[in-house]
Amino acid sequence: MRHTKQKERILQAVRTIPDHPTAEMVYDALKPTNPRLSLATVYRNLNLFSAQGKLLKLDIPSEPARFDANVHPHAHAVCDSCGMLFDIEIERYEDYLTDLKKHIETHSDFRISDITMQIRGLCGACCQAESKEPAKASGS
Ligand SMILES: [Zn+2]
Ligand SMILES: [Zn+2]
Repeated sequence: MRHTKQKERILQAVRTIPDHPTAEMVYDALKPTNPRLSLATVYRNLNLFSAQGKLLKLDIPSEPARFDANVHPHAHAVCDSCGMLFDIEIERYEDYLTDLKKHIETHSDFRISDITMQIRGLCGACCQAESKEPAKASGS
């Protein structure tokens, strides 16, 4: 019984923490009210939920995996400046990926198991902050 409750809390935490939490962010959020919770348990359950399709696991190169309660297929963009992870809703996103997969498999002998789109750049807030900064002398 207790284990079921703990699992629910972990899933609930991913749904309530904004910005696609890492396992550690989920652990930090739950730890104060669940003193016996371990980080390993959080990891194990998050991976289990993603295997069950209840969460999306986002593997970002050279960063800890993030978890997403929004399992509807959508793209993600990471801000190079503040590190925020944004949802990008693209109409017919799955169709694009299917087309891309077909294209690659037609033109190579590679069989694809998974495709993820990596979008990096500057978020709106960071763009604004940058344009407000006094122009720095570039180069020398
Ligand atoms: Zn930013
Ligand atoms: Zn997302």
